Amino acid sequence: MNSQTSKYTKLIKEESKRLGFLSCGISRAEFLEAEAPRLEKWLNANMHGEMRYMENHFDKRLDPTKLVDGSKSVVSLLLNYFPSQTQNTESYKLSKYAYGTDYHFVIKDKLKQLLQFIQDEIGEVSGRAFVDSAPVLDKAWAAKSGLGWIGKHSNLLTQKVGSFYFIAELIIDLELDYDSPTTDHCGSCTACIDACPTEAIVKPYVVDGSKCISYLTIELKDNIPSDFKNKTDDWMFGCDVCQDVCPWNRFSKPHNEPLFNPHPELLEMTKKDWDEITEDTFKKVFKKSAVKRTKFSGLTRNIKFLKD
Ligand code: SF4
Ligand code: SF4
Repeated sequence: MNSQTSKYTKLIKEESKRLGFLSCGISRAEFLEAEAPRLEKWLNANMHGEMRYMENHFDKRLDPTKLVDGSKSVVSLLLNYFPSQTQNTESYKLSKYAYGTDYHFVIKDKLKQLLQFIQDEIGEVSGRAFVDSAPVLDKAWAAKSGLGWIGKHSNLLTQKVGSFYFIAELIIDLELDYDSPTTDHCGSCTACIDACPTEAIVKPYVVDGSKCISYLTIELKDNIPSDFKNKTDDWMFGCDVCQDVCPWNRFSKPHNEPLFNPHPELLEMTKKDWDEITEDTFKKVFKKSAVKRTKFSGLTRNIKFLKD
């Protein structure tokens, strides 16, 4: 550890806080040895369903130096999205992360500002920003950097703030001080496994993505298989059950990012309103939202599946 590296590390972490990130952890950019067999096993068991893109770039996914030339550090960042208000209880459910403006835009913007800050304050540093993008194993990097542990539901979680946050990375060619992983605090708890409506958590730490409601309502382009009829627990976009039941999420605190606030009408809507939703209302309540990625046709397909 040299003093200049420590100074740069401190500067970056302080700036990430100023930009509104919950926390920042840093790892050396290197091959993710522990992840390789896990990812291979998961793909071989076809737990990615139709998410074929998961099979691509296997090497790049495990080794950031293959993704970004000359990279030295992976800077992982968390951004809280836990809302202060939730939907009407008489409504079909929408995952909390999708209430407001699409996080890809919000976070990309913050990452750009962070990279610009690094370039202004430190010098000629180059790198790339990633937000929930297929080639980076963001949970593994965040865990390696001490931002939390990967729970039995396969999300990253922390004792202090639970798990309702986005994970993003800057991969840069600057040597920094590196953080160490934290310990696992799931203990004997099995709340997420027991509560999963589709039994997608097939064993602790292994989620069969092809059974997960998030996959069924967002990723799957075909019709939702009839085996899941009456099992998707009124979720019309994503699913928060395994996070909602997690005891560590009692420590979640509301975010302070105005762009993540939902359109006021969205929280009021009841099942009846969703059943009758028009494309105009869709465009209004989901203006700039990640829900637009499924398009009006995708959301109405999901609603129809719940209703019929
Ligand atoms: S998101 Fe929902 S369906 Fe997917 S593993 Fe968690 S509880 Fe199960
Ligand atoms: S619900 Fe329990 S087992 Fe699941 S992630 Fe939270 S602490 Fe771990």
